Amino acid sequence: MSEMKLVVTGASGRMGRTLVQTIATTEGVRLVAALEREGAAALGSDAGVLAGLGENGVKLTSEVAAALAGADAMIDFTAPAASVANAKAAAAAGVAHIIGTTGLSAEDEAAIAEAARRVAIVKSGNMSLGVNLLAVMVEKAAKALGPDAFDIEVLEMHHRHKVDAPSGTALLLGKAAADGRGIDLGDHSVRARDGHTGPRPSGAIGFATLRGGSVVGDHSVIFAGEGERIEFSHQASDRSIFARGALTAALWARGRAPGLYSMKDVLGL
Ligand code: NAP
Repeated sequence: MSEMKLVVTGASGRMGRTLVQTIATTEGVRLVAALEREGAAALGSDAGVLAGLGENGVKLTSEVAAALAGADAMIDFTAPAASVANAKAAAAAGVAHIIGTTGLSAEDEAAIAEAARRVAIVKSGNMSLGVNLLAVMVEKAAKALGPDAFDIEVLEMHHRHKVDAPSGTALLLGKAAADGRGIDLGDHSVRARDGHTGPRPSGAIGFATLRGGSVVGDHSVIFAGEGERIEFSHQASDRSIFARGALTAALWARGRAPGLYSMKDVLGL
């Protein structure tokens, strides 16, 4: 099969630069365009130079439709409003869309689901194999360890620049726990605690958020019972795990029927 032609959007961001690096060392894929928002300082810069690779001849542009023409997939780790607009543009161009952006609202999710009627979209709050495997284990544990005996808490820490909380991964793990218990996460989560909170609601899934330094992403799901505690943990030390997952998703999405897919689908978990 010919090389898959990829567009990276948010190409001067932390994940965008990691994606450009990872594409350069991955067989079967080629970077054909790099996008940034209109007016961004990096427009016109070489994507390879920005990623620390040396010139690759792909200049950053804000022309989404032109970038998508002839491409096979767009990889998007940007911001919610951008990912919603990109989903519409990718659907119009018939280009698969791989979305790693977190902090999406219910309205954003609905707009992306609508675009997925026309094109294959893979969306995940965490593209790493480790976290997706962890989610499967958390779902099983939550099913086995009922709410009368075990309380579930999700703890996460990220670098000081992160703008949304809890992280997309914390929510993904919380949803896995809720699925295991057969409950809706929205109705059973405690997203923050401060002051006189009263006792812990039975069956709640709690979240706690830490921010600081350069932490790429630490997550723990704690099952706390009477006299014993079980913890499932994952530490990401290198952003390339997310980039490699996104490329696996892009290759998997090639020729796939329209639909909204997750990394669980991609990894066959
Ligand atoms: P970042 O360094 O801030 O990069 C985001 C980039 O997207 C910035 O360059 C930003 O430009 C750009 N952008 C914003 N709006 C745009 C638009 N309309 N068109 C093109 N580019 C646009 O952030 P990051 O650390 O790379 O993270 C990006 C997103 O990915 C976050 O939501 C993060 O939580 C998520 N993430 C997900 C995973 C996963 O596995 N799913 C892993 C890591 C991160 P400006 O600076 O001009 O705004």
